Amino acid sequence: MKILVVEDEQRVAQFIQKGLKEEGHAVDCAYDGEEGGFLAEVNEYDLIILDLMLPKKNGIAVCSEIRERGVGTPVLMLTARDAVEDKVRGLDAGADDYLTKPFVFEELLARVRALLRRTSEAKTPILKVADLELDPMSRRVTRGGKAIRLTTKEYGLLEYMMRNPDRVLSRTRIGEHVWDMNFDPESNVIDVYVSHLRNKVDKGFELPLIYTLRGQGYMLTSDTPPA
Ligand code: CA
Repeated sequence: MKILVVEDEQRVAQFIQKGLKEEGHAVDCAYDGEEGGFLAEVNEYDLIILDLMLPKKNGIAVCSEIRERGVGTPVLMLTARDAVEDKVRGLDAGADDYLTKPFVFEELLARVRALLRRTSEAKTPILKVADLELDPMSRRVTRGGKAIRLTTKEYGLLEYMMRNPDRVLSRTRIGEHVWDMNFDPESNVIDVYVSHLRNKVDKGFELPLIYTLRGQGYMLTSDTPPA
C-alpha cells in the first residue's frame, strides 16, 4: 500500500516511514501542510497520516481542503495529548481516525491496518487473476490452490500488479507505488523483483501471467498480452 506521512518533525516522520516500510508499504513524506496537501492531491495514496500542528497550513485545513477536492483517501490524524477539541475538529474536517502523540509504533500500526483493511474491503475482498489468488487481509497468496510464499516486497509488487491487471505498468509507476517517490527508475531493482515473482508465481504453471513488454514495463494478465 502507498502511504503519505505529513509531519514536520523529521525525526518522527522518519521513524514512521521506516516502520511502515518494514511492513512492506511505500511511504512518501511531506514536512509541511502545503506540500502534504499538494502530494495528497496529485498522487494516489491508500492512506494519509496527517499531523495536526504543521507549518504553512495545519492538518485540519489540509484535511478539509483535500476532502473538498474529492480526495477520499483515509486520513489518520496525529494530535497532541488530551486536546479533545482538536480530535473533534479533525473528525469534522473529514479525518477517519486519530492517534494521540506520543504513541508507540505498534499502536500506529494497528490503526493503519484497520484503516487499510477498510479500504481494501471496500475495493475487493480477494484479488483473482486466472487461478492466482491474493487475499489482502491475510496476505495469503495461492496459485491453483497451492500456497506461494513471498517476501514483503514481492508481496507488495504482486498486490499492486493484481490490482491493476491487463494494464501496462511502467517501471516508474511500479517504483512510485511499490517503492516511493524517490525511487530511481533507472535502477534494475524492479526487474530483479519481477523475476523473483515470476519464479514463484509462473514457474511450473502452464499459463504465464507476468509479461515483460519491451521498453514499456510489465503486465499481469491471463489474456494474451500485446506483442
Ligand atoms: Ca507537528
